[in-house]
Amino acid sequence: MRASTLYALLAMPAVLTAQMPSAPSVPPPDGFRVYLITDMEGLASVVFNREIISGYEGERYRNQSSQDYWDHYRDLMTREVNAVIAGARAGGARSFVVNEGHGGNLFGNILPWDLDTAAILIRGWPKPMVMSTGLDSSAGAVMFIAAHANAGTPGIISHTYAFDRLTVNGRVLNETGINALVAGEYGVPVVLVSGDDEVVRQAKEQLGPGVIGVITKWAIGRNAGITLSPAVVRQMLADSAAVAVRRAQRGEFRPFTLAKPYQIELVLRHSYPAELIAPIDTLSGFHLEKTADRTYRFVTTDAREMARLLDAIELVVLR
Ligand SMILES: [Zn+2]
Repeated sequence: MRASTLYALLAMPAVLTAQMPSAPSVPPPDGFRVYLITDMEGLASVVFNREIISGYEGERYRNQSSQDYWDHYRDLMTREVNAVIAGARAGGARSFVVNEGHGGNLFGNILPWDLDTAAILIRGWPKPMVMSTGLDSSAGAVMFIAAHANAGTPGIISHTYAFDRLTVNGRVLNETGINALVAGEYGVPVVLVSGDDEVVRQAKEQLGPGVIGVITKWAIGRNAGITLSPAVVRQMLADSAAVAVRRAQRGEFRPFTLAKPYQIELVLRHSYPAELIAPIDTLSGFHLEKTADRTYRFVTTDAREMARLLDAIELVVLR
């Protein structure tokens, strides 16, 4: 998700004062369910932010994209997700929940009419715990599609919500790791991560070497890479998703867990002006302790509470 991008634009007073809606449950599965968290930074061939924002996010972004760029890449995203579903189906999965995790066009990027008809799609904003809305223990496996690397690392369009750094129990987590921990609360393992070589390396480091990685491109820097053909990547995604589901059904993956209570440390982006982040000091509803400039400590026994805190911080910081 390009969360900062998104919330900066969405941060109109009406949105800020509104409660995050509660999400109804997704209809129960008939067969093995795969929950897909779909982003765009890690799609085959994507290297520029303008390729993955629509220009409709808000004022600041009006001239930073064009319909031409975004139309192509939302089509490519839809095809990559379909390839994953086709592969997962071949591996034995029968239910597919697709949650849009990319803030471009306010989480409305996938083309619903071109998406595999078996998929249940969660799109739009605001939605609680944006990258894991609708996830529950009915899923047998989680897959991250087109993910990106952690803030401050040499991945393509790398970032982590509104932070320069986020650690849990002293371990740095990227967006994949954060949401893997949320999935772990439901007992659901992450089985596959696709994106550039850097996010795949991070996934294995954070979640363990057993997670299946699909490298769609190799990062040269934040806005350059060496990419495979998108068609070849779709075949790789399908093949890997089939293997992942077979292995998941054999119980070969463990949910990602860390010792509780979680000791969380957040470092807000230093690129934000001070007045923008001042309200975080008095954020209500969370026991957030300021330990240094832009650095906060939070302790919880539930990763979902951490996810809700991240939502709240984004809304405040980007006012
Ligand atoms: Zn994104």
